Amino acid sequence: MPLYEYRCTQCGELFEVRQSIGEDGTDLHCPKCKAGKPTKLFSTFSSPGTGSSFNIGDSCGTPSTGT
Ligand SMILES: [Zn+2]
Repeated sequence: MPLYEYRCTQCGELFEVRQSIGEDGTDLHCPKCKAGKPTKLFSTFSSPGTGSSFNIGDSCGTPSTGT
């Protein structure tokens, strides 16, 4: 699940929110002052430079390793 960082437009509080892909942060609220509609800063999930933050590959395709 991607992690997004938001900044409150009222008090400037930074906070992170996990959201599904395609979801928007329109109904988010600042945890500090409860103001709505924070500014989305960036996604830490798809940060440029790091390509592999999780493993894509064989989840059940490794035959007989152990016995
Ligand atoms: Zn705030």
